[in-house]
Amino acid sequence: MFGVYYTYNQDSCTYQPDFYSKRRAAGVIFLLVLIAMISATGTWLLLRGLYPTADEARLESENSNQRRIFSGILEELNRQENALKYLESADDQHYRVVLNLEPIDQEIRRLGVGGNTTTTNFSGAAIPEINEAYKHFRHLKSRLGLEQQSYQEIILKAAETETMLQSRPAMQPIEERMLTQFHPAFGMRVHPVFGDYRFHHGLDLTAESGTPVYATGDGIIGTADFRGGYGKAVFIDHGFGFESRYAHLSKYIVSKGDHIKRGQLIGYVGNTGISTAPHLHYEVLFHEKWVNPIHFMYRNIGQQALIN
Ligand SMILES: [Zn+2]
Repeated sequence: MFGVYYTYNQDSCTYQPDFYSKRRAAGVIFLLVLIAMISATGTWLLLRGLYPTADEARLESENSNQRRIFSGILEELNRQENALKYLESADDQHYRVVLNLEPIDQEIRRLGVGGNTTTTNFSGAAIPEINEAYKHFRHLKSRLGLEQQSYQEIILKAAETETMLQSRPAMQPIEERMLTQFHPAFGMRVHPVFGDYRFHHGLDLTAESGTPVYATGDGIIGTADFRGGYGKAVFIDHGFGFESRYAHLSKYIVSKGDHIKRGQLIGYVGNTGISTAPHLHYEVLFHEKWVNPIHFMYRNIGQQALIN
């Protein structure tokens, strides 16, 4: 097939080489070379697919390693999310309720601080697990930020509540065992001196002259003076709208402006002012209005150890 072909030329009566056939032979050769090349390339590609190069094998292994790592991170993030959910629910259902704070709206909780972050993408991450982990991380971070704000609010409110509870009048100003008589007569009554029917703004606790009188809550002495019908009297401003007054004292041992603690000795029972016998006239005011002190005597002075 690769030999030179001759054809008989009738015009010149000679045999002449058949160049056309030569061209055909060249074409055949070209075709064979092409097929050989395609086969070689195909074989090479096939082998390459079956047996990747060392670099490719290394990259592939690194890649699957990264996927494993990020799957692990995702699992860890899920565990942290559950821990955060526990804190969020303890916050809403216990701490905020106890302290009279509104629970945080569920939608606000879902979005966290800084609004919706679910659209945030970690650009350049070819591995989907990285994107997923990054989104999850951003979301947790923003929810944690919100929870942190909530706990700060709770700490402030708890401190304020503690001060308020410590300040408001909450005990009997005279020890129970020292009382000889207790008149829970707050409101309208016949006045013991004037004999007419008038409003009694406090409670009378009868005890011997000289019996110690104690402050019923933390506060600042607003008055320690002789005040007309009250006689020698001490007024304590407890803040948060509360005031307590102690009247007919024989003596007071505090001065205006003194800071005092609940249970602190402020004076002694007496019979000064408009009074018929030694007793303590005790008043509690809330926002400058008299209230029945009986509602502010949760604790007897004997239980003082439990208070502070
Ligand atoms: Zn009285």
